Amino acid sequence: MQLAFYGAARTVTGSQYLLSTDYGRILIDCGMFQGSGHMRQQNRMDFHFDPAGIDYMLLTHAHIDHSGLLPRLVAEGFSGKIFTTEPTADLCEIMLLDSAHIQEEDAEYDLRKWQKHRRVGPPPQPLYTTADVQPTLDLMRPVAYDEVLQVAPGLRVRFRDAGHILGSAIIELWVGEGDEQTKIVFSGDVGRSDQPLLRDPADLEDADYLLTESTYGNRLHVSADEHEAEFARIVENTIRRRGHLIIPAFAVGRTQDVLYELNLLAGQGRIRHVPVYLDSPLAIKATQIVRSHRDCFDAEALALLAKGDKPTDFAGLHFTQSVAESKAINTIQGPFIVISASGMCTAGRIRHHLRNHLPHKDDTVLLIGFQAAGTLGRLLQDGVKDVKLFGEWYPVAAQVRTLSGFSAHADLRQLLDWVANIKGIKSVFVTHGEEDTALDFTATLHRKLGLSSYAPEAQFIADLDTEDAFGASREEAEEIWQRPPSEAELAL
Ligand SMILES: [Zn+2]
Repeated sequence: MQLAFYGAARTVTGSQYLLSTDYGRILIDCGMFQGSGHMRQQNRMDFHFDPAGIDYMLLTHAHIDHSGLLPRLVAEGFSGKIFTTEPTADLCEIMLLDSAHIQEEDAEYDLRKWQKHRRVGPPPQPLYTTADVQPTLDLMRPVAYDEVLQVAPGLRVRFRDAGHILGSAIIELWVGEGDEQTKIVFSGDVGRSDQPLLRDPADLEDADYLLTESTYGNRLHVSADEHEAEFARIVENTIRRRGHLIIPAFAVGRTQDVLYELNLLAGQGRIRHVPVYLDSPLAIKATQIVRSHRDCFDAEALALLAKGDKPTDFAGLHFTQSVAESKAINTIQGPFIVISASGMCTAGRIRHHLRNHLPHKDDTVLLIGFQAAGTLGRLLQDGVKDVKLFGEWYPVAAQVRTLSGFSAHADLRQLLDWVANIKGIKSVFVTHGEEDTALDFTATLHRKLGLSSYAPEAQFIADLDTEDAFGASREEAEEIWQRPPSEAELAL
């Protein structure tokens, strides 16, 4: 049995793992690489296998860095079943269509450049198109949380709640029959405990092999109380200045978290007469899908509902669907709040709002998600004085604030607690973290929990039938364990 790491290896995007067994070949996640041009280039490289030769696909959650290459996989011959939770399938419909639109637009832009520049090389093609999305959705087979599903003889899976975004799952996979079973756990993205709306990540009992994400594997979040208080302060200070609060947010997850916090403030009468605009068609659709899945809510959200308080809705909240409605926001007198996409300010309506509000000192731009290097969001976070939008320069006079408490990922303490519960682990593979973070977490896992841990590089193949799954990389693993502890580890 072999496990190959084709993405999210010492980086945070492109999740893709292939497990080859005597009972079939299973692909776990098929994510897009995101970030710099060099990263994105990897989306166009040939798959490391023949997509038609894959028997089953397991999908942990709908985020594009886990699901975004599925339409390409299907277009290139994969025709097996895609097992995932029902909310993930619902979210994939809007996310993959949105992604396909972006691919088509980018290809059109590249084609115009290609025509202008003497047509060197073949004409640019989209990575995939909207026509590739429906055949992908048709292969999806919804699986309920916590139910053991016999996929094929010798292959059983169970999806457990990951508490990361709606529908997200940690996947348990049993390979073999009778006494000869090996259990492999794929963490997907592990959610933060006490996140609004969603349940905490499920505690797992055991595993032979564990793949765990490490996005925040060397950082600690502020407490939920501190976070709530800081958010309220930023909102109220902006209102007091009669300014405008502009929040760039990812459509799925972060947007609903912000609505949840604003609903609490609305309930306390702290944002009275301040309209809130959700100004992103994708985020509006995502919010509607989240609202339709009360079965995924945690006890707190259900308690609000039982009192008649909808957790992501309140008086003064407006969905602005059309471009005309979006533009009309700027004619409003007095303070208001706008939540818009994209989360890193790289595209979408948020750029129009930034153009209108960055030059005003009484306005606030609140960054709440991870801002990748090279994005407009990151430039703002780093404190640039001017930004270029739509071909013109604008001064940054507005206050730019960052809140990390909206993160949808477990921090070091929560990840360690989650792993510590799992008994019988022979080896841990650390994935889905920037290189330094993944290596730090690998060392922490060894020091704190005595685990045999390793952060594989891309294309690493682990042979799970041998005594040592790290093989020739054993020495490197032991070197990683010698890394000095991260500040977060020292602060535990
Ligand atoms: Zn995710």
